[in-house]
Amino acid sequence: MEKRKVVLVGTGFVGMSFAYSLFNQGGANELVLIDVVKEKAQGEALDLAHGIAYCPEKMDIRYGEYDECKDANIVVITAGIAQKPGQTRLELVETNAKIAKDIVEQVMASGFNGIFVVATNPVDIITYVVQKVSKLPTSKVIGSGTMLDTARLRYLVGEKLEVAPNNVHTYVMGEHGDSSFVPWEHCYIGCKKLTEIMEQRHESMSDLEKIRDDVKNAAYEIIEKKKATYYGIGMALTKLVKAILNDEKALLTVSTYLDGEYNEKNIYIGVPAIITNKGVREILELKLNGQDQQKLSSSANILRDTINSLNM
Ligand code: NAD
Repeated sequence: MEKRKVVLVGTGFVGMSFAYSLFNQGGANELVLIDVVKEKAQGEALDLAHGIAYCPEKMDIRYGEYDECKDANIVVITAGIAQKPGQTRLELVETNAKIAKDIVEQVMASGFNGIFVVATNPVDIITYVVQKVSKLPTSKVIGSGTMLDTARLRYLVGEKLEVAPNNVHTYVMGEHGDSSFVPWEHCYIGCKKLTEIMEQRHESMSDLEKIRDDVKNAAYEIIEKKKATYYGIGMALTKLVKAILNDEKALLTVSTYLDGEYNEKNIYIGVPAIITNKGVREILELKLNGQDQQKLSSSANILRDTINSLNM
């Protein structure tokens, strides 16, 4: 049987929501759990493995050490500290960049040559750090970027227009954080422009901007109410990991490396890109209007300033 091995580093809320989601959907045949708190990873592996009898397909789930990364297809990083109520993602950067560096050095020492998928926040910057430390090609280091924000947007626009989120083709771009934005001109419901639908329904575009604000503030609201967000990102990571394992060529708003696209260089940021079993095959570059290009540039500048201030 073809080997489809995923190693997960960080068995907290986000990591285990991803593991549970992948386990239920199937698609990988080996899942290895690693955490700095070994007992946590061991306990989670046992707990999860006990569900195999009710799973769609067999998956070998176990606790492991970094030498397991040697022959892994994908290493998913969800380790690190999370936002506390009122805290921005950018405030996590110093601690999580150090944790990411430490993890990546151990993964690379195993001889790993697969694809990194990163969710640890601030995800665009941590993905940048993972690429720099690993020295893997940029196409093989992918952040979850604005995938979660995009899922939230599709859900809320679908609710407003009473259309299934599957048919809502709207995208959040930029930093996975406060400076993200939605290029409304490039949003479609099925094959019809969203701006046209709003006009026909005599609805104002400011209603959509209100939805965008709700998306931007969703994490703050959830963290205030239940301390952490994890189911949505767990499913987003499953989608990304399966897109890689299945060579889906899926269009996802991942955090990927810009090398001249959107007039930006040497930065990881959320943009629509095509994902294959080799990682990011192509950035599907949109022709942004002046305002949206400005929003992307300021988002990139915020990330660049934070990277430059990193003490590593
Ligand atoms: P958590 O505290 O529940 O879990 C973090 C885990 O990482 C813990 O089990 C901890 O022991 C482990 N860990 C810490 N340092 C480690 C190290 N050096 N090596 C191995 N494991 C280590 O936190 P969480 O709620 O799961 O959040 C994890 C990260 O995911 C946070 O940075 C959070 O902000 C981020 N997050 C990202 C998104 C997204 O859309 N990208 C969404 C939600 C949360």
